[in-house]
Amino acid sequence: MIGEPVIVAGGGTDAGRVRVSNQDSHLMAGCVFAVADGMGGHAAGEVASALVVARLAGLAERPTLRPDDVRTVLADANQAIIDSAARNPAQSDMGTTVTGLCLVQVAGSTHWLVFNIGDSRVYRFADGTLTQLTEDHSHVAELVAAGEITPREALDHPLAHFVTRALGTQDFVDPDIRVFPPTPGERFLICSDGLTRELADDLIAHVLADEPVPQAAADRLVGLALAAGGRDNVTVLVVDHVASPSEPVGTTTPRARAGG
Ligand code: MG
Repeated sequence: MIGEPVIVAGGGTDAGRVRVSNQDSHLMAGCVFAVADGMGGHAAGEVASALVVARLAGLAERPTLRPDDVRTVLADANQAIIDSAARNPAQSDMGTTVTGLCLVQVAGSTHWLVFNIGDSRVYRFADGTLTQLTEDHSHVAELVAAGEITPREALDHPLAHFVTRALGTQDFVDPDIRVFPPTPGERFLICSDGLTRELADDLIAHVLADEPVPQAAADRLVGLALAAGGRDNVTVLVVDHVASPSEPVGTTTPRARAGG
């Protein structure tokens, strides 16, 4: 039996330099990591993003997870947001993106599972290469995919913030889910669009390559997003799957600690 991945993570969030409140929420609990970017007036976005993160936190309490557990929790969170909005008129327009990463059991072995609804993102950084694992569910991502605009033009597009999938806005939840085996030494970045609208991927990759401590890398990325304008709430989690050749084979308890 192969030892479970050893994980070290760090994260940070900031309202930014323009928005009065921070509607992003995030989770680092056990081997479950998530970022949610809420939307809606009267602070309702904060309610929606906090609600899905609280539901996902429940997954971290379970001894083992399977992909269907993640799907079920996302569907439950969607219904809870819809129900809350139905009871509270001030929340009528609320919704949230959510994306993240957790360890699941598939066919008897441990795998990473990446989930996504909306335009927050998960990236994998390994061997010096930054790869976006999630696909944005946004109008501009569809235009880019169709070749009608460039990724650069997408940033300034009038509908740049329009997401085509979110929790709380549709009865049916359709998350993207991908599952793959862990590789020691890999690093993951989970972030809201407040990071990726401000910083180009090559600068993000440079920071991830240059800063070995996850908390310090997350802090630097948040700081750079603020320095670049900070036009939106920004949330960054950096999750390292530590390469530990000294780790005894047979260790079975996934370990994670926040704060790197
Ligand atoms: Mg945002």
